[in-house]
Amino acid sequence: MAQAIGGANIQTALWAVRCKARSSPNGKGKTVKVPEREKGQRNHGGFGHKEKKKEPLWQCVKGCGACCKLAKDPTFATPEEIFENPSDVELYKSMIGADGWCIHYDKNTRTCSIYDDRPYFCRVQPDVFQNLYGINKRRFNKEACSCCQDTIKAIYGANSEELDKFNKAIRS
Ligand code: SF4
Ligand code: SF4
Repeated sequence: MAQAIGGANIQTALWAVRCKARSSPNGKGKTVKVPEREKGQRNHGGFGHKEKKKEPLWQCVKGCGACCKLAKDPTFATPEEIFENPSDVELYKSMIGADGWCIHYDKNTRTCSIYDDRPYFCRVQPDVFQNLYGINKRRFNKEACSCCQDTIKAIYGANSEELDKFNKAIRS
């Protein structure tokens, strides 16, 4: 059953919790904080040449696992604020180990041991973003990138190798 999450997806509710604080609410009246829209174009100096800015493309990166740290500090929304279904809250909480990381997360390999059977809220997908956070599918890519960046910063730091790797991956 164990399977590496690696370069595929290791998404969890941790960054989803982060998303909650920065995106449109799911009808729950929570704070709305949406990243500024990118300008889409940039000017390359005195020749007036404009080049369309490449939109980062979300992807999960191997060896990250930042979103599998499920216990968050009080500045993050709680599971009760994220989920409407009490069974989701219960499941989420039941996955938090004594060290705050998911009990299914292998810290040595930075992989998920139940990857194929991981909960829906562990999956970074447009429908999950839409249903949980009210994020329109057109905004999915940008929000997913932002959520991962926030989560990686929170876990590994703003100058971490993990963040650098992620930023390079989404711009490659
Ligand atoms: S924080 Fe993002 S890049 Fe890192 S493991 Fe989670 S989904 Fe993948
Ligand atoms: S089940 Fe745990 S280890 Fe697996 S993706 Fe979800 S949070 Fe990470």
